Amino acid sequence: MRDIRIHDTLSGKLKVLEPRDPGKVGIYACGPTVYGRIHVGNARPFVVFAVFKRFLERVGYDVKLVANVTDVNDKIYAAATAASRPSGELAAEMTAHYTADTDALSLGRPDAEPLATGHIGGIITLISDLVDAGHAYESGGDVYFNVRSHPSYGELSHRDVDQMDQGEGMDGASLKRDSLDFALWKTTKPGEDTSWDSPWGPGRPGWHIECSAMAEAELGADFEIHGGGSDLVFPHHENELAQTSAARGKPLARIWMHNGMVRFGAEKMAKSVGNIFLLGDAIEAHGRDAVVLWLLGGHYRQPLACSEERFDEANARAARIRELARRLEPGESPADLAPYKERFFDSLCDDFNTPAALAEMFGWIREANRQGRTMGGDDLFLMLDVFGLANLLDADTSDGPSADAVGLLDAREAARAAKDWAEADRIRDELAALGWVVRDGGDGPELIPAP
Ligand SMILES: [Zn+2]
Repeated sequence: MRDIRIHDTLSGKLKVLEPRDPGKVGIYACGPTVYGRIHVGNARPFVVFAVFKRFLERVGYDVKLVANVTDVNDKIYAAATAASRPSGELAAEMTAHYTADTDALSLGRPDAEPLATGHIGGIITLISDLVDAGHAYESGGDVYFNVRSHPSYGELSHRDVDQMDQGEGMDGASLKRDSLDFALWKTTKPGEDTSWDSPWGPGRPGWHIECSAMAEAELGADFEIHGGGSDLVFPHHENELAQTSAARGKPLARIWMHNGMVRFGAEKMAKSVGNIFLLGDAIEAHGRDAVVLWLLGGHYRQPLACSEERFDEANARAARIRELARRLEPGESPADLAPYKERFFDSLCDDFNTPAALAEMFGWIREANRQGRTMGGDDLFLMLDVFGLANLLDADTSDGPSADAVGLLDAREAARAAKDWAEADRIRDELAALGWVVRDGGDGPELIPAP
């Protein structure tokens, strides 16, 4: 099997993937808190880890991908109160929307999608173990993690412990022994309509402990990859790591893999900013192929810009693949194109570099267009299939140029008739990108495969 190297946030270095159990890879990727419809920023980790799983499986690993749903949380209580609805009903409705929106990406579902409310027993056991070990304490019906009892705290986010703010505000401030401490269990407050019995009285879990407990239930400790958005490094993942290593004496995961944020204009894409681009709307407006190609067009660790133009670019790339597909047939691809496929997989082995892999795939397409003959498409199928985009190859099997290309040819003729040479040239370039050149013959212009 190929060596796979991934950037690990904990060590700050590229780390070779070394499975705990040979050939098996467990991935836990933090999923959404279900208080509203998900936007394209939430879709990024879903797509990154779904496609990463597809890639690992195609190079021979047995993968279990776990993506949780946080269905009890302060944000859900607040949204339910604002809408005068039961919080459990709102969470269930938004979980169904999340499932439908991500189903529309057609990348397959994670192997397990645990709900926090389905793991309360395991969460209480983990908190009890932390209390027994002296890493947590009860106070006024709440339970807090004692941060200073865990000397390596701060190792993931590389922060000095005295420079940290758990983001809990004044919530429980008078109950904490130290302002650094964070909540594991919260006693029921007025206005909260769900609670569970515990050794510390009725209440509900804190956010961070939910993921430690669900990850352990699904994958055990010391599994291969813990993932999520880079906005989760602190405090969420720092706290998950501290909880599990303090309670179990083992690391939670071997590699911490974080994706960058989606940016819309100059702002980080966050629901609080108000410039939301909902996933369902993006798929409806631009199609699923464009959304997937756009998300894979940037390196997962870098910020990714979201705009109408980016979706249009992605659609143009999808059209280019569909156009070439018309001249491909099932079967072995020419050997002289094989280096593109090799470098495609090399790029993904090297910190899952999807833009570099896409560049190799389009190199293959450019060369196939240059040769201009019908050829076996197996290699292109293999590459597209990693990205869940093999559907682009079976869009249209009729001979000759597509309706899109013919439409462009007509538009070019109209531009020429109007003496709009700049527009005619622009359309010619667009046709070239689709793999067609215009030949002006005696019967008018015709499209021939680009040399
Ligand atoms: Zn989480």
